[in-house]
Amino acid sequence: MPDNAAKREQPNTDSCRFSSRCPMYQTFRNDFGLRMFQTTYCNSANHAKCARFALASKGTMPPSDLLPNGRTLVAASKRES
Ligand code: SF4
Repeated sequence: MPDNAAKREQPNTDSCRFSSRCPMYQTFRNDFGLRMFQTTYCNSANHAKCARFALASKGTMPPSDLLPNGRTLVAASKRES
């Protein structure tokens, strides 16, 4: 269907502008966890609510273990185990 094909080729303007170089992606060993954050934050308009985005937008490099929801990767792992 031409309309859908044309829509797919357009860039997603809701996506985070840092997604091509976000260091958080390298910290995940669990693909499911990373995909959850990408869907919830990185690839949606919700990226503006991301704790990493807030710091990066101010010119500050976020800590590598800071998650979009404001928790740290280590703290989140301990809580889940
Ligand atoms: S984690 Fe945050 S800063 Fe990094 S790409 Fe996703 S929305 Fe952007």
